[in-house]
Amino acid sequence: MAAGFAPPKLAEFILTERLGSGTYAIVYKAYRKNDNREVVAVKVVSKKSLNKASTENLLTEIEILKTVKHPHIVQLKDFQWDSENIYLIMEFCSGGDLSRFIHSRRLLPEHVARRFLQQLASALKFLHERNISHLDLKPQNILLSGGMLKLADFGFAQYMSPWDERHVLRGSPLYMAPEMVCNRQYDARADLWSVGVILYEALFGHPPFASRSYAEIEEKIRSNRPIETMLVVEAVSKDQSGDYAAALSLYCQSLEHFVPAVHYETDAQRKEAIRKKVKQYISRAEDLKALVASNNKISFAQAKTTRDLLKEMSRGSPRLIAGLELASAAVAKEEEGDDGHDTLDLYQQSLGELLLMLAAEPVGRRRELLHGEIKCLMARAEYLKEQLKMRETQAEASMDRDPLSESVKSSCCVQ
Ligand code: ADP
Ligand code: MG
Repeated sequence: MAAGFAPPKLAEFILTERLGSGTYAIVYKAYRKNDNREVVAVKVVSKKSLNKASTENLLTEIEILKTVKHPHIVQLKDFQWDSENIYLIMEFCSGGDLSRFIHSRRLLPEHVARRFLQQLASALKFLHERNISHLDLKPQNILLSGGMLKLADFGFAQYMSPWDERHVLRGSPLYMAPEMVCNRQYDARADLWSVGVILYEALFGHPPFASRSYAEIEEKIRSNRPIETMLVVEAVSKDQSGDYAAALSLYCQSLEHFVPAVHYETDAQRKEAIRKKVKQYISRAEDLKALVASNNKISFAQAKTTRDLLKEMSRGSPRLIAGLELASAAVAKEEEGDDGHDTLDLYQQSLGELLLMLAAEPVGRRRELLHGEIKCLMARAEYLKEQLKMRETQAEASMDRDPLSESVKSSCCVQ
């Protein structure tokens, strides 16, 4: 069975690490046992996971997929099978999948999302012209290689109903068209719905129908309510719970999306309504900025008291003192208003030292204080990182110089 722990054996290949697994298969990195040791990805599909459509039909389909060659489609080089599994030998994509790519960056700047969308569209157009639909489009099925998108995991969906015999939904409904989730009758057009969901996720960092339960997703997909701008909803909720730094960051993220909307909107009334909202968010962001700055001051003062105490207790331990001095230097730099990479570096250096010291520190009061100090420094470093990322995203978004964008810039940068 494909879900075994050790990779299965194939005559011409050496299977090594597991690259990933999805709804139907496990994918391994592998080398061809020949002179040039070509790297490939081998997808192992257990025959047990196939539905009633015969394996024979599937093999014919794979034969067709072998002829599909496109720069934005993962190439199927070959396939094999035995009594248990089907093995698809594919082009190896070293950049991981789009889901990981988006979430490691929180969200993608528009120009990157635009380029990806063009690549995805060209791959889908090519497939649809050949009467191949994907039917399981989602970020996990889009791979990256050499900075390009490569569409993967297609051509199978028609043999593998998303609903199994017990009517349990396999895979994630987040990206599925309503007719797929609700009527269970669908065609190639379902792919277009998924493209929209993927684009939304790339720009906002989460899919539009993100939910806690399957029932909730189904309800959201069925309803024709406009999608709420989740960022604003989250910002308001963080604001209400007193997490001002998080609220500020969320308001600023949502402004990044609302400001361009003011320009794109052609309907005068709607344009005015968006403009009003933007002004309201900017004003709240300004207030939050002041709150965050004053909270920072208080926490800086508290942290300094503990750090001084720790230094007192560390007289006999020069390394610990050195680590704490680094921390003081980082904080001082940040207090001076330097929230750039240099300050972050200092934080990270001091954390490196102090974490080493913590590992060797015996249980006691000093350990407790050191632990607290490390937690504080980590929080500062995280916060700085967040700020840096935010500024980079803003620079990338390259907003034009109208007064609205200028005030967004000034309200979103703390200090
Ligand atoms: P499934 O049909 O089980 O969903 P996929 O083809 O989507 O299988 O592969 C599952 C995961 O394996 C992908 O999300 C990706 O992380 C990894 N993977 C698949 N194909 C490749 C490849 N050619 N190169 C690198 N990683 C891959
Ligand atoms: Mg998949």
